Amino acid sequence: MKNSNNMLHFTFLGTSSGVPTLTRNVSALAIRNSKNKDWILVDAGEGTQHRIQQAKLSLQSLVAICITHIHGDHCYGLVGLLASAGMNARTAPLTIIAPEEIQQWIKATAQLTDLHLPYPLNFIDVNEATQILQITDELSIQAHPLSHRVPSFAFSIIAQYIQKKLDTQALIQLGVAKGKVWGDLQQGLDVQLNEQTLKAVDFIQIQTQRAHAIVGGDNDRPELLAQACQDAQLLIHESTYTQAILDKVGSGPMHSSAKMVAEFAQQQGLSNLILTHFSPRHQDSAGQQVIAEEVRNFYKGNFYLAHDFDQFSLDETGRLSKIDKS
Ligand SMILES: [Zn+2]
Ligand SMILES: [Zn+2]
Repeated sequence: MKNSNNMLHFTFLGTSSGVPTLTRNVSALAIRNSKNKDWILVDAGEGTQHRIQQAKLSLQSLVAICITHIHGDHCYGLVGLLASAGMNARTAPLTIIAPEEIQQWIKATAQLTDLHLPYPLNFIDVNEATQILQITDELSIQAHPLSHRVPSFAFSIIAQYIQKKLDTQALIQLGVAKGKVWGDLQQGLDVQLNEQTLKAVDFIQIQTQRAHAIVGGDNDRPELLAQACQDAQLLIHESTYTQAILDKVGSGPMHSSAKMVAEFAQQQGLSNLILTHFSPRHQDSAGQQVIAEEVRNFYKGNFYLAHDFDQFSLDETGRLSKIDKS
């Protein structure tokens, strides 16, 4: 059996909406390129830097921070985290994709608290990130607008590996035995063999492997992600309430119920769904069970309710697995 290739690795650093509780911190999610240490942070609620330490992630390998919207439970941990990266002697530039207000806030806080970062921030207004942005050779990010009390965004996180494979079958058929010629072709060198020129380009097959996850910010209209989700293997979305509680609370807070997200995922034929950002009232095991039942009633795919420090991996075939921490 062909081994599937894990491409994206997820660690939930906070899964509570609005306020931290004893068991859950406010929103933050680490997404790592499974091939190396590069990782992206989506949201940075207060206390995220402790969670990062506990999850054994290094601020040195952080390549980008995406902030979905300006509500405190999604960003109050940002400046402290940037300061700590500075004290850890980070020098590599750091990309921040966020609403413009976040840049103003960082600037004001730096001025008012004598903060001087020893590394440059590459600030990108989230409105400019609706085209795909290449962050590293393998990771890219794209923002999608959502609906919330303030402008809010989802982020596509895409890992793409390009592998060059030598067409050994063709070479064997030509009577070229394994050896130096194979090595040269693999390295892209054309080879003169007897009367013949073997062109590297004729014997190298390009294979592309890709994994695509969408991480939503707060949002009361999951259907806004319909187009983006057509290409995605995983949606991570808020599910602050059950439908019954949402009906009681009313539409003012502009959040989604489990039912809304589950129905959307089912209509889209999405194969994987992870729900997060639970109201404190839904965080005990009874509350989680009610949410899970509601999802099950409307969605037939593979789903999880995230807890803090839960880890998942997504491979290039679109298979999502929960990682056993024991
Ligand atoms: Zn929130
Ligand atoms: Zn919010």
